[in-house]
Amino acid sequence: MSGSGCIFCRISEGELPAEMVHEDAELVAFRDLNPQAPVHVLVVPRRHVSSLDGLDDADESLAGRLLLAVRSIARSEGLADDGFRVVVNSGEWAGQTVDHLHFHLLGGRRLTWPPG
Ligand code: 5GP
Ligand code: ZN
Repeated sequence: MSGSGCIFCRISEGELPAEMVHEDAELVAFRDLNPQAPVHVLVVPRRHVSSLDGLDDADESLAGRLLLAVRSIARSEGLADDGFRVVVNSGEWAGQTVDHLHFHLLGGRRLTWPPG
């Protein structure tokens, strides 16, 4: 589902509210509505890409920008020293619930491993 049916497209276009922490021409980052840690930010390409598996080889630059944005936000949120986790759920068995690619940035508490 893309365009007006996709909540992350709508947040990117300003049609739905979100607590933004970063916006540029290609990416937006906003706080998760149901945070799983003191800091829980979603980093999202403005372009509708369904999942990590929806990226193709021509998206090398976008993929790099997403990861570098995660790093920058981790620093600006004060997570770099203690550490943080980056999660991308891709597809049903991983528990992906929003079909628009997003990187979860989690930090601000000690996280356990393995995930469920
Ligand atoms: P997924 O399960 O697909 O990896 O992650 C989707 C995430 O999006 C969940 O952590 C969920 O809390 C978050 N989410 C779902 N709808 C909204 C929304 O409307 N606004 C915000 N800020 N986060 C949302
Ligand atoms: Zn979308």
